[in-house]
Amino acid sequence: MKELLFNLPDGRTLFIREPAIQKMLGYQQSNENDCEAGGILIGRILIENNHFIIDEVSEPYPTDTRKRHRFIRSQKGHQEYFNALWEEYEGRCFYLGEWHTHPEKVPLPSTVDRRGWRENLSLLYETDSLFFIIVGTEKIKVWYGKCGTGEIACMEGGWENERKTSKKTI
Ligand SMILES: [Zn+2]
Repeated sequence: MKELLFNLPDGRTLFIREPAIQKMLGYQQSNENDCEAGGILIGRILIENNHFIIDEVSEPYPTDTRKRHRFIRSQKGHQEYFNALWEEYEGRCFYLGEWHTHPEKVPLPSTVDRRGWRENLSLLYETDSLFFIIVGTEKIKVWYGKCGTGEIACMEGGWENERKTSKKTI
């Protein structure tokens, strides 16, 4: 398992740390009855170069709506999770976006997803960019969103399940 690195259209980078990736992968909809899961992305913005690091992600709470093809995140739980981290990081952490799972190999955002992301980008945040992650059953994809303009772009790269090689006798 490797940490993920993405390039933003303006040359900055987004770095997702392994513990955060592992947490999201724990909710992959590998079985046909698995419901969607999701949460918020929390991380740091480096002062020197404005690069982004996602350190932590929240996990589903009982107040969220979890269906096979739908995830609706409630504020409850996720807000408290953020507050606790904010204390721990002494105010040096930011809300950086949202993640959720899809029951498809290579995930693509639905119309509802895109609408939600655009609404999200129109709100006021302490950062100029937000990120939206969808965890598919074979691939994790990340979209970049620009606050203000509402521009959304899929970021190159991503994580793919390691292919299992067949056993060979040497
Ligand atoms: Zn979705």
